[in-house]
Amino acid sequence: MIESIHRPSRIIVDLDAISYNLAQEVARLDKDQHLFAVVKANAYGHGAIEVAKLAESSNIVDGLCVSNLDEAIELRDAGICLPILVLSYVNPNFIPLANEYNIMLTASSLSWLEEASDVLSKAKTNKPCVIHLKIDSGMGRIGLREETEWLKAKSLLTTQPYFELNGLFTHFATADSQDESYVLLQQSRFDKALQVFSDMNIPYIHTSNSATALWHGAWKSNLIRFGDAMYGLNPSGKELELPYELKPALSLESKIIHVKKVKKGEKIGYGATYEARGDEWIATLPIGYADGLLRRFQGYEVIVDGQLAEIVGRVCMDQCMIRLPHKLPIGTPVTIFGENQKRNNSIEDAAEYVGTINYEIICGLSDRLPRIYRQVEGN
Ligand SMILES: *Cc1c(COP(=O)(O)O)cnc(C)c1O
Repeated sequence: MIESIHRPSRIIVDLDAISYNLAQEVARLDKDQHLFAVVKANAYGHGAIEVAKLAESSNIVDGLCVSNLDEAIELRDAGICLPILVLSYVNPNFIPLANEYNIMLTASSLSWLEEASDVLSKAKTNKPCVIHLKIDSGMGRIGLREETEWLKAKSLLTTQPYFELNGLFTHFATADSQDESYVLLQQSRFDKALQVFSDMNIPYIHTSNSATALWHGAWKSNLIRFGDAMYGLNPSGKELELPYELKPALSLESKIIHVKKVKKGEKIGYGATYEARGDEWIATLPIGYADGLLRRFQGYEVIVDGQLAEIVGRVCMDQCMIRLPHKLPIGTPVTIFGENQKRNNSIEDAAEYVGTINYEIICGLSDRLPRIYRQVEGN
């Protein structure tokens, strides 16, 4: 999709906030603990290349995580040299391509390892595939679940020349929740896997997404997979308090493109669902659900001139209407997420308003919105 640059709706990304959040976490780590910045899904909507470049220039980030091979290749093509780990499944037929780009893959099952051996035995190169072996300790997504599988994987990895085992990892399903019981169960299962592989001298052991790093002391990890918190958001929404300050990096802004006075009883938008309660100033914004501003945002309050203004009527595909506190001219800036004259619309609050998590809001912002980068401190 083409970026709509001749329209005043845009995402502002504060790169200094990302640097600050990274530094906050790195300051808590031991010397032998490394941080990989998670930049999958276009860096949670912030722009993968720009965030990866920032991470690389920071000198405190040791690698990057993405979710698929194409995201990894995009970064390599942009000149990123940091180690890159693909966290999700990659068809073993693409291992030669991953090797060509120096990209580490996740071994997601025993059959993946077997297929991968087959592919590599037929490949012309003898460069090993660098893998991180995923243990499913209870997330139920990808990974090797049973001890019998772990033992078979171990024997395959120790007898075949095709792999370099760079990491062993798992993912916790409830690290962002008050109740720790399921994390404890997953930890005990991963401990068993650690025992099985204990004599293999694996460089990286990792269990920590943002939530595990923030609230579980990065349990047994010498590598942190740091995503949501790097962007300044609380992975738990509002359930758990942050152990240190995070600065949100993303704002969503637009401008008034049309304004009019409507009389009491007049209707607004598809379905005529809103009726003016008195004479009201109604403005139109050039942003809608095709940009990721979900229809469920009807009734949500944006900030204009430092005051709250409700989205009235249904959000359209490309536009939405707001009720102004008073008459304002075309071109007046409007903040949908972020700060405006000391008022702040947090993405956590916005997510709660539409009944989802902050992750889904930021990943859902479409490529139609230009990303504008702000960096004062720089490197
Ligand atoms: C997305 C992802 C992460 C990052 O999670 P955050 O909650 O954003 O820190 C870490 N590990 C895996 C396996 C993931 O898929």
